[in-house]
Amino acid sequence: MSQSRTLVSIVIPVYNEEKGLTKITKRIFEVFDKIPKYDFEIVFVDDGSYDDSLNELIALNKENPKINYLSFSRNFGHQLAVKAGLDNANGMCVISMDADLQHPPELIVEMLQKWEEGYDIVYTRRKDDKGTSFFKRKTSAAYYRFLNFLSDIEIEQGAADFRLLDRKVVDILRNLSENNLFLRGLVKWMGFSQYGIDYAPGTREFGKTKYNVRKMISLAITGITSFSTRPLRIASWIGLTASAIGFTYAIFAFIAFFFTDLNLTGWTSLIMAVIFFGGIQLLTLGIIGEYIGKLFMQVKGRPNYIIKKSTLDD
Ligand code: UDP
Ligand code: MG
Repeated sequence: MSQSRTLVSIVIPVYNEEKGLTKITKRIFEVFDKIPKYDFEIVFVDDGSYDDSLNELIALNKENPKINYLSFSRNFGHQLAVKAGLDNANGMCVISMDADLQHPPELIVEMLQKWEEGYDIVYTRRKDDKGTSFFKRKTSAAYYRFLNFLSDIEIEQGAADFRLLDRKVVDILRNLSENNLFLRGLVKWMGFSQYGIDYAPGTREFGKTKYNVRKMISLAITGITSFSTRPLRIASWIGLTASAIGFTYAIFAFIAFFFTDLNLTGWTSLIMAVIFFGGIQLLTLGIIGEYIGKLFMQVKGRPNYIIKKSTLDD
């Protein structure tokens, strides 16, 4: 009888979340109790945690074989942890969500409904409330505006890594070997029929956020450079504008020196020109460098992550 039920995989990246794992597992079991027509597996991806998360996962797996885990050899980051979960999940559809209960498991019911209606991707949008810090709300809104301006994909405000993907989408993602992942963008880029659901984020119940400002900025830059070369174009325009200004000023200086009695004193204008053009050169070099760095990392062709232990080996 259980063979005829549709298998749904739940992928959960875990980085030092020892205290929350039992609770999120319980909540997911409660959700699936209410929708008995689905069978499910949970795929926890331990992203090199150094607390007791892995032991917790081993214990949970002993309790119930529906609870599976992969364990990375070190920390590879949230995006790759989700990717590894997708690569190894067996379900007809795969739902990814965070371990900290900010993504309410109860939404799974609605996601599955939309999937049954025929949508291949059901993504979610965080409806910000007081649960999210003022800083995060503002930076996130500004970032998406900036990202959408710079790149060729359109990502909605508050898009989260809490989504359902149909098997055929997961199979395509599995074959992409992009190593600097920005899943939100990649999923949008893939097309298919997509449906967005709003949700009110829960508060993180245990542990603390793993995304500090540095990681957020790094993910933000990845998001931009993965989907557009427009920053390179902008660099060219900045260069062109700067040379135009410089050239105009040079003509002025030339005329002033040879044909007028204006006594130009040099230091201020000289130092300004040096700083201005020096700054622009470094900025554009930095932009070019970002892309070369990505090329370098990709060309080496290293695996994106290394799994040291898994209950999904077969
Ligand atoms: N996470 C991970 N690897 C990391 C950082 C985070 O697997 O290097 C996991 C983390 O355990 C959580 C999810 O990714 O399940 C989202 O992280 P977090 O809640 O810290 O981010 P926030 O919600 O604060 O943006
Ligand atoms: Mg969180």
